[in-house]
Amino acid sequence: MEPDLNNSDILSQQVEQSSPPEVLLIEEPHRYECSSCGYIYEPTVGDPRRGIGEGTLFTDLPKEWRCPVCTARPASFSDIGIPSKPSGFTENLGFGFGVNVMTPGQKNLLIFGSLAVAFAFFMSLYALD
Ligand SMILES: [Zn+2]
Repeated sequence: MEPDLNNSDILSQQVEQSSPPEVLLIEEPHRYECSSCGYIYEPTVGDPRRGIGEGTLFTDLPKEWRCPVCTARPASFSDIGIPSKPSGFTENLGFGFGVNVMTPGQKNLLIFGSLAVAFAFFMSLYALD
């Protein structure tokens, strides 16, 4: 019985077929942020004051286009992705700060520890009398 030499060919064909169709590449237009002033170009809004209609991609802007806020060149803008891009960053922003860093045990230790110190200090005042 000969080994199936065609197996690898079949596999490579499957890999090619499973590559994403071009439709998926056409997502929402990317927004671009001005590195000088933080202005964000919204392709869905455009730049009406300069005659840039809504739906104009940043890459389709005329070369003479400048940042509406600081007149920076398009070259100083950076791609910040699509608006609805899920990052999860804001959701996790609350964690890792303040008391959330401490375990409940550490919190109790802090509370009762400071009480004990205050009590000891109080008693030392009485001891002086
Ligand atoms: Zn700017």
